[in-house]
Amino acid sequence: MADRPHAELGGKTCLQAAKTPNLDQLATMGQVGMVHTVPDGFPPGSDVANLTVFGYDPRKYYTGRSPLEAASIGVELEPNDVAFRCNLVTLRVTGGKSAAGGKGRRAVMEDFSAGHITTQEGRLLIEELDDKLSTDHVRFYPGVSYRHLMVWKGGKDKIDCTPPHDIQDKDIQDYLPRGEGDDLINELMEGSFNILSNHPVNKGRVENGKRPANSIWLWGQGRRPSMPTFREKYGIEGAVISAVDLLKGIGLYAGFEVINVPGATGWIDTNYAGKAEHALWALKTKDLVYLHVEAPDEAGHTGDLKNKMKSIEDFDEFIVGNIIHGMKQFDEYRILALPDHPTPIELRTHTSDPVPFVIYDNMKVRKGDFVSYDERISERKDALVFKEGHTLMDYFLKK
Ligand SMILES: [Zn+2]
Repeated sequence: MADRPHAELGGKTCLQAAKTPNLDQLATMGQVGMVHTVPDGFPPGSDVANLTVFGYDPRKYYTGRSPLEAASIGVELEPNDVAFRCNLVTLRVTGGKSAAGGKGRRAVMEDFSAGHITTQEGRLLIEELDDKLSTDHVRFYPGVSYRHLMVWKGGKDKIDCTPPHDIQDKDIQDYLPRGEGDDLINELMEGSFNILSNHPVNKGRVENGKRPANSIWLWGQGRRPSMPTFREKYGIEGAVISAVDLLKGIGLYAGFEVINVPGATGWIDTNYAGKAEHALWALKTKDLVYLHVEAPDEAGHTGDLKNKMKSIEDFDEFIVGNIIHGMKQFDEYRILALPDHPTPIELRTHTSDPVPFVIYDNMKVRKGDFVSYDERISERKDALVFKEGHTLMDYFLKK
């Protein structure tokens, strides 16, 4: 949700301009502050930022994005396995025969999500790749939409790989993986282009005016992390609700139950109300629910101001509003609301800037002037500041 001021919004941020009466109500009656979710020296990925929000110090527990997603897909990693995020992407190739070779050829990252390809189509393509490219050491596993998994047994993990959403509309030549083991990774990516370009799924997509998933892009690699569960850390039980494998994976390592909500898509058409309903239902048996919404981030990546505003307003109305209402059935409770990181429209990628948060405690209702939930919380004298972002969860759960 967090962003920077926009001329189109009269110098306001999305959060300032959007109608968010429910977040404002929490801010007015609760404790507001700013939290640094990305430690210095770390890339501002959703993996790092959400580990922080979950209360795990990335400096101690972060081993890469893909191992967290592997857990969600149900792939158990052995100690010497290296998991890679395998995006299905759209490359725009001109002047050569293949994506990664040939004189005079140019391959541009046209779409890191291959037009938000459906899960069903993505699965067919990944199964084809597993058929054609897998070996004793390399396997492909289907995930959701454009987000899939490659596991390299006895693999190398010190390869410099670039997230594809950071190189939209750029020539991939300058961003191909580099480092020990890069030859295999580049071979797989090039091999995928030759297989996927002519696949019936892609021919059908092109005929229907959609972007073809004509290549994979491997990145976000790492070995399995070892994290204490919430039961071990805090003595409580949790559940996670998200459309995104990464979030479910962090939840699984935290010992949470993963609750799959029908119609949760990770996009602006997600089932907001269903997520709130499932969260309230889960709280009858769990101590904590981590409810994640991806839509404002995706709108940020596509530079879509209108949809970012809409997703924030929908989040406020159908998630925060329904949660505030539904929590009244419980005697004592707290609500923490925040973005994991900013995805500013003008940059179309994540930043490390601190984000505003609010904690509402129904046993400690603050009575005072109206507080708007937005980035200007950073200017308030009563704002708490968490430089060590992972300690916010400790603060939120303290007795
Ligand atoms: Zn993002």
